[in-house]
Amino acid sequence: MIKASLRSHLTLWFAGLSLLTLLSVGVYVGHIATEQMKQASGNALLSTARSTAALLAVQLRERQLEVSLLSKAPIMRKGDLDAPDILTLMELRTQSRAEYAWMGVADANGQVRQAVNGLLVNQSVQQRPWFQAGMRGEYTGDPHEAVLLAKLLPGSASGEPLRFIDFAAPIRNAQGETIGVLGAHAHWRWVTQIVDSAVMQKDAIPQIEALIVDFDGKVLYPELLAGEQMPPDQLRSASGWSTGNGYVTASIAVPSPSNAKMTWYIMVRQPLDVALEPARTLLYKLLVLGLLAAVVFVLAAYFLASSLSRPIERLAKSAKQVQNHQPGAVFPQDHPVLEIAQLGRSLTGMTQSLLSKERELQEANASLEATVAQRTADLTQANADLLKLATHDALTGVFNRRRFDEKLAENSLLFQRTGRTFALLLIDADYFKRVNDTYGHAIGDDVLCQLAALIENTTRATDFVARYGGEEFAVLLPEVEEPDSPEVVAEKIRAAVEAAVFPTVGHVTVSIGVGVAEPSDRDSLALLKRADMRLYEAKGSGRNRVA
Ligand code: GH3
Ligand code: MG
Ligand code: MG
Repeated sequence: MIKASLRSHLTLWFAGLSLLTLLSVGVYVGHIATEQMKQASGNALLSTARSTAALLAVQLRERQLEVSLLSKAPIMRKGDLDAPDILTLMELRTQSRAEYAWMGVADANGQVRQAVNGLLVNQSVQQRPWFQAGMRGEYTGDPHEAVLLAKLLPGSASGEPLRFIDFAAPIRNAQGETIGVLGAHAHWRWVTQIVDSAVMQKDAIPQIEALIVDFDGKVLYPELLAGEQMPPDQLRSASGWSTGNGYVTASIAVPSPSNAKMTWYIMVRQPLDVALEPARTLLYKLLVLGLLAAVVFVLAAYFLASSLSRPIERLAKSAKQVQNHQPGAVFPQDHPVLEIAQLGRSLTGMTQSLLSKERELQEANASLEATVAQRTADLTQANADLLKLATHDALTGVFNRRRFDEKLAENSLLFQRTGRTFALLLIDADYFKRVNDTYGHAIGDDVLCQLAALIENTTRATDFVARYGGEEFAVLLPEVEEPDSPEVVAEKIRAAVEAAVFPTVGHVTVSIGVGVAEPSDRDSLALLKRADMRLYEAKGSGRNRVA
């Protein structure tokens, strides 16, 4: 699936729909217009054909009437077809009417007795249809080429063969017997001119063309189409007009004044192209207008789509920023489209709650880290305490017996390897049992603490002070040289204790045994024993002294 922006989706849909609408309207209007144009053209042609046919019918009827009246003139009834008055009568008629090419009288045998300009006189017309029909009654005939008169009359300017239509009427004597026929040949040109001028009057109809068609559908006029067969549905359509062969054609019958079989049809036609020209023009205009409207629609659609999609694009961009933890995400909350505004508010709410959750998480994280750090510190402290506990005496804080044993062993080894002499002081509180008994164990503990502190303060930092057990302390001295010989240090301690005042108890004394490492010592125990011996000596010699 092709992914496109909302903007393009909306624009495409708007444009497509508007084009579809315009196209369907265009096609519909075009169809309606075409039908109406056909109808209009058909009706206009029909009215022209009708008036032309009416005009022609009147003209034909007049000619027929003229011939009939002439044949019934009083002079005819006298029975003498050679009477000069007959010729005069006919000459008067033909002179006033240019359409007559020939007028004459023939006797019952078909011999021409008199004729205007003497044409065809004494010739036989017995075989001519007009004569044969004229013997029976009034006659108006189809156009035909001049058979006999062709050689006698001047040819037409266009070189077309001369064609006539014939009018004839029987001549009867006073007894009512038919003694001959009065015949007249009118120029076919006369008929066609009547038709043409009648049609051309309607100059409002462009490229209009008039046809004269005989009863069987054969074209009589114009010459160019003569003999062509017209389809019967065009000749006798119910509405009077029809379309076909690229024309709109209207057709009206011209009844013959004398002969039902001689009915002609006036067909007036116009090329369909020409008839539909206004519809086509309308269609082109519609097309241009439609295209313009489509362009306007597309532009409008684009701007509408933009205004709709811009906030959504903004929302999408801001959502992406939130997703990527980038700053500056802002969701517009004011928009005329309700859902977009709602979306903006919801996203803002969601983002804020997300951010506050994230902040809470960070804070929880930080406090967790602080707790861990605190715990680690506690643990480190506990470890340090544990370490101290392992090496120090819990009551007095100086090193314990375990550590003292190690240190003593180290010093012994070091002494044996390097020969660096070191000394050991063993310090024992005098009559301590009595302190406990007199003041209680707790006060005794206080005294022990104070004693330890006194010993620490009196010795150097490099000296090693430990609680040896009970109310006994041990001090390892790495230096044995003057002025701080072990005896001096011991004496300093003893004097400091003696001088010190202990709360509740008052004065306490200690006895100190001094031992110095000797190369002959087999192990640290020898030194320990020696120092203990000295302590014993000190106790024995009255206490509160150094031995
Ligand atoms: P002297 O050494 O001078 O011969 O007499 P002394 O009374 O000190 O002798 P002894 O060694 O018989 O008594 C030691 C006393 O020290 C016994 C005990 O009650 C007391 N003592 C030992 N350890 C502690 C202690 O941790 N706290 C207290 N308060 N007293 C202790
Ligand atoms: Mg003791
Ligand atoms: Mg003691």
